[in-house]
Amino acid sequence: MIPGTAVIWVKRDARLADNACLTEADRLGLEVLPFFCFEPSVLEADDTSAMHRHAQWQAVEHLRHQLRRRGADILIAHGEVVDKLAKLRERLPFTHLFAHQETGNAITYQRDLAVAQWCRERGITYREFPQSSVRRGGVNRDRLGEMWRSRIADCGPLPVPPIRQLAALRELAATTGFPGLLRVTPEEAWQPVSEADALTTLEDFLARRGLWYRGGISSPNSAFTAGSRLSVHLAWGTITARQVWHRVRARLAELDPAEPHAGRWRKSLQAFLSRLYWRDHFTQRLESEPALEFRSIHPFYRDVPYQNDGALHAAWREGLTGYPLVDAVMRCLAATGFVNFRMRAMVVSFACHVLHLDWRLIHPHLARVFRDYDPGIHLNQLQMQAGVVGWNAIRVYNPSKQLADWDPDCRFVRRWLPELRDQPAERILGGEPLPEYPRPVVPFAYRAKQMTDYLYGIRKTTEAKASTTAVYLRHGSRRKEQSFRTKRPKRPAPPSGPTLFDHLEGGEGR
Ligand SMILES: Cc1cc2nc3c(=O)[nH]c(=O)nc-3n(C[C@H](O)[C@H](O)[C@H](O)COP(=O)(O)OP(=O)(O)OC[C@H]3O[C@@H](n4cnc5c(N)ncnc54)[C@H](O)[C@@H]3O)c2cc1C
Repeated sequence: MIPGTAVIWVKRDARLADNACLTEADRLGLEVLPFFCFEPSVLEADDTSAMHRHAQWQAVEHLRHQLRRRGADILIAHGEVVDKLAKLRERLPFTHLFAHQETGNAITYQRDLAVAQWCRERGITYREFPQSSVRRGGVNRDRLGEMWRSRIADCGPLPVPPIRQLAALRELAATTGFPGLLRVTPEEAWQPVSEADALTTLEDFLARRGLWYRGGISSPNSAFTAGSRLSVHLAWGTITARQVWHRVRARLAELDPAEPHAGRWRKSLQAFLSRLYWRDHFTQRLESEPALEFRSIHPFYRDVPYQNDGALHAAWREGLTGYPLVDAVMRCLAATGFVNFRMRAMVVSFACHVLHLDWRLIHPHLARVFRDYDPGIHLNQLQMQAGVVGWNAIRVYNPSKQLADWDPDCRFVRRWLPELRDQPAERILGGEPLPEYPRPVVPFAYRAKQMTDYLYGIRKTTEAKASTTAVYLRHGSRRKEQSFRTKRPKRPAPPSGPTLFDHLEGGEGR
């Protein structure tokens, strides 16, 4: 006899492999009903976009396909989760609700608390399983490395377990489908998000693209192919850091020192593993201090007098600031949902330090245009690049210098700014007035100095320094956490031959 039914609440974890919810249900001999809910409160939030809705849609659709191949199905609902679970319970007296822990925004955090309470009141066993090294509620930073070892490095990913689902549940699930109202027509440039795509992307990275990782991820031209491009999969949970970690470690172990480029491969993959670790480092900060969504981590930087000029905000969002690289990045993001780390950092630094826009003001738009939006990384990076964390160097990226360094032939800029397509690179780099293109909306150097003088003014005070130590002890990284770090990279030649992401590289014409 089956001892009960577990509803498996699918959130940012639409996958079969390394799925602790499915594994535990199998261990307990429970029948399972996977359940996904499109929640109006999440969909209507100002940090959600059609790009995100589509990512989840695609991931869940693929999961449904995989489940059906195994003789099971997923129930798809549209409404607030507690209401939908209550409705479901009228038809199906389930005994267990399993989910993965999620470090999200305040809306999903409150929702998770409400679901836990609803289960408690009904005697339903509610369990949340970790899917990273992040510890719910917080952790002593000195123990982060240990958490990583015990949850990620020292135990391999879970295999896909048998899925027990009787015909009645399958039939119930099969009557549900994706709400037509929410259908989104995807843009061709949006990166596909599914468990199968995650594995293909990882293998493609390890077979070819990864060789160019170290040094290749700084340029907006090469990062589309040199980066792992796993961020969408990690963000939406179609793969776990544990799966990636163990696969990369295996690749490193297989490296034959005699094979061509073995040294470059090793350094690239080690640099990649460091970043995988940073992911949890930043997510843990938000998990430990959810108020980070609304205020800077450092109390002395909570009242920076930003101007928040509406016209400058609009010019930044639309890619019309008169700074070609900033504008190209903003338009590329709106179309593809992706740019590399350096370019993300530059547009935030430009918005906060030069346009004097509050990081909280620019947050929702950036979240919406990142296909890989992940609140833990995103909110922390916004604060770091805005210079309000207190202990990181205050870094102002000069867009003209970044253009000369990382897009010297203006390939990327000309691709995303059609009005500059026929202009020679020297004219764009020279910063002279260009026909049909706006003049800079503000002077860079003067405005950047105003803001950095203000931020350094705070930093120098004895009171701020004392507070920095306290905040750092609670949230800062520890030296031993950084053991995967490698030296500064040299810029490589781009990969030769076709790769999975060629159609998105910063080539001519679009
Ligand atoms: C302002 C700003 C906002 C950002 N917002 C997001 C976000 O919402 N979602 C997101 O996934 N990344 C974010 N990043 C980090 C980084 O830019 C992207 O993870 C990276 O560009 C994705 O490309 P990739 O998968 O090829 O990364 P790779 O370089 O191949 O890195 C592998 C993985 O490590 C993680 N990672 C990489 N860099 C960092 C970092 N600096 N900090 C923490 N984790 C990292 C990501 O999960 C990434 O997929 C942000 C960076 C900045 C400066």
